[in-house]
Amino acid sequence: MDKVMYGRESFEKVLRLLEEHHRWFRESLPLIASENIPSPAVREALVSDFGNRYAEGWPGERLYAGCRYIDQVELLAMELGKRVYDAEFVDVRPISGVMANLAAYTVFAQPGDIMMALAVPHGGHISHGKLKWGGTAGVVRHLEVERYEFDEENFEIDIDGTRKKLRKLEEEGKKVKLFMLGASVFLFPHPVKEIAEIAAGYNAKVVYDAAHVAGLIAGRVFQDPLREGADAVTLSTHKTLAGPQHGMVLSWNRYSEDFKRVIFPGLHSNHHLHAVAGVAIALAEALAFYEEYARQIVKNAKALARALHERGIEVLYDHKGYTESHTLIADVSRYMDGMKAEKKLEEANIILNRNLIPKDYRLKTDYKTPSGIRMGTQEVTRLGMKEGEMEEIADLIKQVIVDSREPREIALKVREFRKEFQHVHYAFSSQTEAYEYIKIR
Ligand SMILES: *Cc1c(COP(=O)(O)O)cnc(C)c1O
Repeated sequence: MDKVMYGRESFEKVLRLLEEHHRWFRESLPLIASENIPSPAVREALVSDFGNRYAEGWPGERLYAGCRYIDQVELLAMELGKRVYDAEFVDVRPISGVMANLAAYTVFAQPGDIMMALAVPHGGHISHGKLKWGGTAGVVRHLEVERYEFDEENFEIDIDGTRKKLRKLEEEGKKVKLFMLGASVFLFPHPVKEIAEIAAGYNAKVVYDAAHVAGLIAGRVFQDPLREGADAVTLSTHKTLAGPQHGMVLSWNRYSEDFKRVIFPGLHSNHHLHAVAGVAIALAEALAFYEEYARQIVKNAKALARALHERGIEVLYDHKGYTESHTLIADVSRYMDGMKAEKKLEEANIILNRNLIPKDYRLKTDYKTPSGIRMGTQEVTRLGMKEGEMEEIADLIKQVIVDSREPREIALKVREFRKEFQHVHYAFSSQTEAYEYIKIR
């Protein structure tokens, strides 16, 4: 094919696929625990010219000209971050949660040092992972990662077991330098205080990865890691915080110069200025609306868990109220493996993901066919849904998983159900529909 024609066809194809994606999401139930829908104002920031500029360095000390307005927005983003999280130091330049973690690994540890973190089936994130699993901490920073002992019955870190493990490591001459907390399946607050006390005995640092729960912390419904003893908090700005895809570090003045130097020039050149503007907007929304938003997210998560449980889907940790966050996990292995559940639900326009659950750790299940699924209520809550709607969602999921109904039939019901929920809530302005495709070409 002629190259101009191939270019033309590809151009049209990409734009058509983008529009189709938007149409699909308008008619679907978005339940992936790590995603969200930002407000129209955040989306406006993302298409602004900030996204075409450079501003290396710190506001006022840039390596580029043209930053008159960019600097003001970045300073405001930092001020808002300090206010929302009551933090002494905020850096809004990490372009993702993983980069924020890498910054913390670089500030607080050296290659070869030992870091404690959660295993993936216990909720750990790949960026906390060891070399053998291709994890960021191991592959990029060459840290030696040791796992926390874990109480699977209660889905929490086993503090006594971990103490014993640390003593054993010490006998082998291994001293821990960094304690990583936070998770991708983050159902209950982590024992920051206890870990910080242990860390003090080793002269080690504590980093709390709030990627998943940043919006809940902003809404003051989860825990307050800085006050409980964390040396730094890393986060993604696009999960419960509902901003653009980006990252952030919160810490104390005593570490500010180290973080500044590592984040630039160490780890970034460009830091995605359109996203920084979006983060400022999301933080402003958090100040005004997230106490209410976060409370509703958790109420909805508990309601969805209960409703699923009543309909024969084994949501885990019922004896602990299922969850204290936006996330819930269910064991679907009575019906099918997690992969099959994910695929069938996707056909039904119910979008969530398969997930390893604690029993997979013992069974050594292949990560491709885990026993569970993971769901989060942050996005459907942002669309204005409450406890009553969680019952309806549970019904739709049950019809696919328990009753083996034809997924395409259920997709029609999902589309009907979604009609009333097309706007972003907990935002200053919400004229444009949540998933409306914005054409500016
Ligand atoms: C999602 C997640 C990250 C990664 O964040 P990105 O912004 O995608 O880089 C880091 N840590 C945890 C615990 C996460 O769940």
